[in-house]
Amino acid sequence: MKGLGLKVTTAVLLTVVASTLAVGLIIIGRQGSASGEDAATTRLILLFSVLIAGGIATAVGSRLASGIIQPVEQMTDVARSLSTGDFSRYAFVNRDDELSALGEALNEMSASVRRMLEAASTGKGHLEAVLSTMESGVVFIDSHGRVSMVNTAAVKIFNLQDAYLGRPHVEVLRNYQISAEVDRAITTGSSMRLEVNVIYPQERSLEVFLNPLAGGPNGSGVVVVFHDVTELKRLEKIRRDFVANVSHELKTPVTSVKGFAETLLDGAISDPATAREFVEIIFREASRLDMLVRDLVDLSNLESAPVPIKPVPDDLRDSVQASTRKAALKAGPAGVNVRLRTPGEPVICPIDGERIEQVMDNLLDNAIKFTPRGGVVEVSLEVQGNYAVVTVADTGCGIPPEDLPRIFERFYTVDKARSKKTGGTGLGLSIVKHTVDLHGGRVQVESEYGKGSSFHFSIPLFSNHMPRAGAS
Ligand code: ADP
Repeated sequence: MKGLGLKVTTAVLLTVVASTLAVGLIIIGRQGSASGEDAATTRLILLFSVLIAGGIATAVGSRLASGIIQPVEQMTDVARSLSTGDFSRYAFVNRDDELSALGEALNEMSASVRRMLEAASTGKGHLEAVLSTMESGVVFIDSHGRVSMVNTAAVKIFNLQDAYLGRPHVEVLRNYQISAEVDRAITTGSSMRLEVNVIYPQERSLEVFLNPLAGGPNGSGVVVVFHDVTELKRLEKIRRDFVANVSHELKTPVTSVKGFAETLLDGAISDPATAREFVEIIFREASRLDMLVRDLVDLSNLESAPVPIKPVPDDLRDSVQASTRKAALKAGPAGVNVRLRTPGEPVICPIDGERIEQVMDNLLDNAIKFTPRGGVVEVSLEVQGNYAVVTVADTGCGIPPEDLPRIFERFYTVDKARSKKTGGTGLGLSIVKHTVDLHGGRVQVESEYGKGSSFHFSIPLFSNHMPRAGAS
């Protein structure tokens, strides 16, 4: 028998003893009065007996009250605290009775609820952290078609303002195609993948995955995941265009070489004048092919070689002067005057000299090609802040303003016929841009159609904080 049962039993026994005592005293009193003692004595005994019995009952009752009611009240308080999420209170357990067992059970329950809540909140925290750092947009839609959760990426993709939670997905996503598929996923319960182009808030290509949730902890509905594949699509298009351009550019000279060679074999070779003319054409086309292949190899090296440039601190004047000297030799017969202006003191920059010379060659080649007889090409090198700036300006035909933003694209030529005549590949300026970018600089162009163009490129100056190539 546990302590509490013992106490109650003891209390009952004491009350019985007290009552028996009282009854005994009454009987004794009656006998006394029967034997002739007066009634006053009898009443005194009676009163005394009742007082003794009452005193015992009161003492036992209050003892019981303090032993049972107090712990029960304390446990009630603890249970109330638990219900409000306060797990800091414990039921007082220091006895060996049923109430202590109840207190222990209460404390165990409190600890286990606390552990469960902690686990749930950690899980929720992890889920929220994952969702908010994801690059893909995630939207939960309940079985009634209302948006129940949206992560940060989705807010950005759809430019969502306040109060989107609880609203129908049609109003939030504002895309008929996606909404139609969401409804279908809710009704059929099957997963789906689709590609959608959205125009609001900006044009994007989205890959959308719809996964129905059948009676999960958050109820049923659909989780919609959005991958922004705009950049991927753009790169894919560039690659496709590039392959198409390369094939086209290679096909033209190859067809020409093949055609003229065939005509020679068919008999034209026996006519010396025709033969010479055809062989000259074949040579020109082969040179063009050679130029194209070289430019393609250069571009591919710049884009994908593990170490596309090897910069060392060097005087930028050397590369600029070397290239300008070569260009002046070509410009002479074309009737173009080439001028050069460089500072008196060295301009040290971390550069790959050969690559910078190639940049200069391309810019000067264009400047001379597109400048008519009697024109001027002016090359200057100056220091501006932490950069060395090289300018190649000509008084040539200029570039129409609408073409300016695109001339650094691969294979972009302002006038196909003109480029073909001047022997361009449309890759020269792409190579310039890539090389300057790899040197940490920028290339810019200004041009007035019909009056001339100025190409500028900047290269950061060498600072003592930069590591010197080859230094141990
Ligand atoms: P290309 O090999 O055809 O010259 P580029 O990439 O070097 O190719 O140049 C792209 C186009 O930019 C050229 O076809 C030409 O139309 C235009 N361009 C480049 N430089 C000049 C210039 N200095 N003056 C006029 N047009 C130019």
